[in-house]
Amino acid sequence: MAGNDNGNDNGNDSGYRARSLWLGGIDAPLTPRAALGGDVACDVVIIGAGFTGLWTAYYLKRLQPDLRIIVVEREIAGFGPSGRNGGWASAFIAGSPGVYERRSGRDAVLRAERETFDAVTEIGRVVAEEQIECGFEHSGSLSLAFTGPQRDRLIAGVRSKHARGLSDIDIRVLGSEESAGYVRAREPLAASFTPHCARIDPGRLVRGLADACERIGVVIHELTPATWILPHKVRCPNGVISAPMVVRATEAYTTQIKGEARRFLPLYSLMIATEPLDASALDELGWASGLTVSDQHHLFFYAQLTTDGRIAIGGRGAPYRLGVPISDLYERNDAVRERLTDSIRRHFPAAADTEIAQSWGGPLGVPRDWCMSVVCDHTAGFAWAGGYSGHGVVAANIAGRTLADLITRRDTDLVHLPWVGHVPRRWEPEPLRYLASKSIVAVLGSADNAEDRTGRTARRTTLVRPFVMSR
Ligand SMILES: Cc1cc2nc3c(=O)[nH]c(=O)nc-3n(C[C@H](O)[C@H](O)[C@H](O)COP(=O)(O)OP(=O)(O)OC[C@H]3O[C@@H](n4cnc5c(N)ncnc54)[C@H](O)[C@@H]3O)c2cc1C
Repeated sequence: MAGNDNGNDNGNDSGYRARSLWLGGIDAPLTPRAALGGDVACDVVIIGAGFTGLWTAYYLKRLQPDLRIIVVEREIAGFGPSGRNGGWASAFIAGSPGVYERRSGRDAVLRAERETFDAVTEIGRVVAEEQIECGFEHSGSLSLAFTGPQRDRLIAGVRSKHARGLSDIDIRVLGSEESAGYVRAREPLAASFTPHCARIDPGRLVRGLADACERIGVVIHELTPATWILPHKVRCPNGVISAPMVVRATEAYTTQIKGEARRFLPLYSLMIATEPLDASALDELGWASGLTVSDQHHLFFYAQLTTDGRIAIGGRGAPYRLGVPISDLYERNDAVRERLTDSIRRHFPAAADTEIAQSWGGPLGVPRDWCMSVVCDHTAGFAWAGGYSGHGVVAANIAGRTLADLITRRDTDLVHLPWVGHVPRRWEPEPLRYLASKSIVAVLGSADNAEDRTGRTARRTTLVRPFVMSR
């Protein structure tokens, strides 16, 4: 049975808007769609109207227009991280290449990397076709290194991608002068650039995708929690939906479902956004339109310049409390807000005096091996995808297309990618998972501080190696 401890907004438009800058900026009212009204049968029922659920519905309906598809959403479409994220439609595989390689071989990993590149373009194609105004701009991504250890990590990261078969066209190291042509940050030592990333407004994309699904005949019921998931049946408060195929698309919230508590580590990622920068600050920054920017801290920041000229920047670093892995209480954290504000002041001094307009956050679904899954069992009539470890914008598009192919039994390249059928082992029982979450944040944060202070690589990160992604 699914729990409900996520700070429900229960149809409250302003409550939903406060969940992120993006949801707050939607022009249309966020009035929930009609809830399920009674028992009903369909061909595919999907639980969760985030990117995974909606992309699955969209591609299924495009492949087979006569399929009867129902999506049930506990709150409103885009309520979860899909409507709150950093707006990076970024390529490169979600998870550890090493894990996928051991499972499926080297070529499969390279194919998977290339699939993520194509998926950025594919999202842009649908955005254009469905006329979703979400600021999609395929301008690439810059990662900045501000200290010696960060520069070493940046170069090692690019080399390891090249060693796996990618080239300078996919990702390359830049000197500090060249990087200033993308954005004028304060004194980076080096940078890397990849063209495989698009900037989006995720709230507009996920809400627009829900509308596109409805236009082609998908039925979406909001304020409709799945309270019990059974073979071929989903029970909701006002009725039971029967279908030969049930798809669970609840990512981090999966941990609230009975029997699934240890499926993921819900790790919070938090964001802040400035007020729109004035013309002189924008001029001084020279932030290339649509570019996304990150750094190489262990607790790295990820940032974009929004279509209305704000810096929206996020980072990890808010552990959950023992016994309550998901709560809206964790969506705002003063220490993380201060760290992100400090990142703006230190690295983008042109924006140092601009007020912070909003802060928000949400849970990432992190599997034990940090590798994503796309799973479909026709005998059980059950499919699911998730575990994107903070890289779900592109991954959910791939997962949606893959689930559509698997459910309709199409033998495409997608169904042979290394995450198909991959089911990581579960996290350790509490309090061990909680301790892992706390130590990841504490050790990586203290390593960052030490590296910033001394300019030398902090070795203490090996302490949390058993819990974090291996390369
Ligand atoms: C602050 C933040 C920044 C991020 N930045 C990025 C980024 O820049 N790029 C990137 O690639 N990824 C990013 N991510 C991760 C990305 O947002 C997620 O991986 C992705 O949105 C997951 O999509 P999803 O549809 O699988 O899950 P979700 O978006 O979580 O959707 C699941 C939906 O299921 C609903 N639900 C849950 N339980 C039930 C139930 N019992 N019954 C009915 N409905 C239910 C929820 O309300 C929710 O709407 C970020 C995440 C956060 C929190």
